[in-house]
Amino acid sequence: MDCIFCKIVNGDIPSLKVYEDEHTMVFMDIAKDVDGHMVAIPKKHIKNILDCDEDILNYLMATVKKVANYCVDECGYDGVNLLNASDESAGQSVPHFHIHIIPRRKNDNVDA
Ligand code: AMP
Repeated sequence: MDCIFCKIVNGDIPSLKVYEDEHTMVFMDIAKDVDGHMVAIPKKHIKNILDCDEDILNYLMATVKKVANYCVDECGYDGVNLLNASDESAGQSVPHFHIHIIPRRKNDNVDA
């Protein structure tokens, strides 16, 4: 399958991995647009939330919460933005379900 995030899951292309378990993975977004910008994905290829069953969604959200709490509890951030685009009409550019995690600090002037 010609999916860039599946290639990351399979180790065919490199990533800066932050977290991994049986069903999910979190790695740094290549954009480097905002300090700490990560993406959380299910390992299984699912296009977006519209195609996602509840079990996978629950695994993914549990991972997102783990990483969000780690950002705040261990890394000195104050909060996080969680962003998702589902379908090209909504701005999805990589067709493998992902949730952007953007750690935030008070008065950081990030436009997320
Ligand atoms: P979206 O536009 O919401 O579908 O987000 C896709 C995200 O994937 C963008 O923020 C890209 O910077 C990111 N991205 C694309 N290719 C890679 C890659 N090889 N490693 C990490 N992030 C990537």
